[in-house]
Amino acid sequence: MEEIISKNFIQDFMDEDLAANPGMKVHTRFPPEPNGHLHIGHCKALCVDFGMAKKYNGLCNLRMDDTNPAKEDTEYVDAIKEDIKWLGFDWDDRFFYGSDYFEKDYELAVDLIKRGLAYVCELSAEDFRNPKYCGDLTHPAVSPWRDRPVEESLDLFARMRNGEFPEGKYTVRAKIDLASGNFCMRDPVIYRIKYVEHHRQGTKWCIFPMYDFAHPIQDALEHITHSLCSLEYEIHRPLYNWVRDNVNIPGNPVGFPRQIEFARLNITYTVLSKRFLRGLVEGGVVDGWDDPRMPTLCGLRRRGYTGSSILEFISRTGVAKSDSLVDIRQLEACIRDELNETADRRIAIAHPIKLIVDNYPEDKTETFDLPNHPQYPERGTRAVPFCRELFIDADDFAEVPPPKFFRLKPEGEVRLMGAYIIKCGEIVKNADGTIKEIHVTADLETGNGNPVDGRKIKGTIHWLSAKDALDTTLHLYENLTTLENPADKPEGKEYTDYINPNSLTVVTGAKIEPSLASAKAGDKFQFVRFGYFCKDSKLDNTFNRVVGLKDSFPKSEQ
Ligand code: ATP
Ligand code: MG
Repeated sequence: MEEIISKNFIQDFMDEDLAANPGMKVHTRFPPEPNGHLHIGHCKALCVDFGMAKKYNGLCNLRMDDTNPAKEDTEYVDAIKEDIKWLGFDWDDRFFYGSDYFEKDYELAVDLIKRGLAYVCELSAEDFRNPKYCGDLTHPAVSPWRDRPVEESLDLFARMRNGEFPEGKYTVRAKIDLASGNFCMRDPVIYRIKYVEHHRQGTKWCIFPMYDFAHPIQDALEHITHSLCSLEYEIHRPLYNWVRDNVNIPGNPVGFPRQIEFARLNITYTVLSKRFLRGLVEGGVVDGWDDPRMPTLCGLRRRGYTGSSILEFISRTGVAKSDSLVDIRQLEACIRDELNETADRRIAIAHPIKLIVDNYPEDKTETFDLPNHPQYPERGTRAVPFCRELFIDADDFAEVPPPKFFRLKPEGEVRLMGAYIIKCGEIVKNADGTIKEIHVTADLETGNGNPVDGRKIKGTIHWLSAKDALDTTLHLYENLTTLENPADKPEGKEYTDYINPNSLTVVTGAKIEPSLASAKAGDKFQFVRFGYFCKDSKLDNTFNRVVGLKDSFPKSEQ
């Protein structure tokens, strides 16, 4: 199997580490916070975490980072696992919860206090924002409680745990360096009081460790060698190292676990933030986390993306040390390339107009065998019924044709795909001027597989038998937001100000060929001359357009 992740700078670090530590086995982890569904940005982290482990024949753990208590957690845990499995990653039996280590976190914090490396502080949240206490670039931070006797801190911490104090009254802070140029190191808070029910621990705890304290401990307890994370954690790395080096967790080589940061995935017209995505769901802007317009894995899946096309996209975009913006059309190209190979061809007509073949017998039906895939004859054919009354797409007819219009026009000739050549006759209108039906005559000597049919005709259009075609609804999509680079959002604006009003077009009354009656949810087809479509998994009789047929992305930029 091809490698999940191409050569990258993390490999250089790992090579160095393995050379310096004989016997070391690469062990990574993927630590999602179960406060929403995974999005395609997480897929990048998954590919890096699982991909690097695989490259080195190592292991990757799945750990729910649930140290921050939030009520809605439980529903997301299973969904996250499902999405990861769908992509084909496997954590075997190494599935953990950050909250399972709460007792250990507490014990280690007590130990830090005992060794004079942490203390209970009484500054309020407001004090923490007051320059008098938090300092600034030229002034150190100040805590009047820094030199509180160890016994007193231990007693207060135990009572914090017992629920004797209100939220915000006390915090535990690591005693590091109030004058550090890195504000993360200015005696960061490592524990705070919070009266919130935890999705797994219930009301057992009313104190919770901060991420910067809990994360290196979790990594060290699981003997992670390389803690790979996105770039925004770079500034936290000194704190990660401090915690790792000052708590006592045996079994890890000196200097490990090691944090290495890589650039986040950013995509044009796409906001990769669970908070924003949750807002869309809760605000009813989209039809749930799995709305096919969402950049969530469940949304992309419902839209018709495959796991392999998403992995291919991540692989094409690579792993870098600095942030960049990837064109969303690159993602579309990946699924288009794949479906071009894998999807069977079918006929759908979005805006049907009636076509009557005047010289075709009224009671006759014949079938034409159309190939499932023109490049792969071995994939067989399906029978498409033909009769006197047909549908064609309104777009394939022009009463006043623009130049170079090779589809049906008055007096014009066109080939019905895989069937007869027809010539346009009378155009019958409704009272309101719209087209009621178009009469044509067919050259019945022509037709699929007929050896005398050597006629050259410029235009070919697709068609369906009016009495056999099935009704369906088609969903067509555009980008969910109109902001090309989400990082360019002006001050004072919200992402919700940039929702594309045309992100969904619902086409009702569309027609599809009868063979699609047996299509199952998730089945994907190329609707010829129209795009790749996937049968929706929630709505009855609805097909979602995964992507159009044509790539609008210049090859030179790919
Ligand atoms: P969000 O802001 O969407 O909530 P997050 O970083 O808070 O994202 P987590 O559940 O904490 O979400 O993320 C799990 C892992 O996925 C982290 O290691 C994080 O760095 C990584 N990750 C999240 N978004 C991206 C992205 N756009 N590109 C690469 N990695 C990402
Ligand atoms: Mg996070």
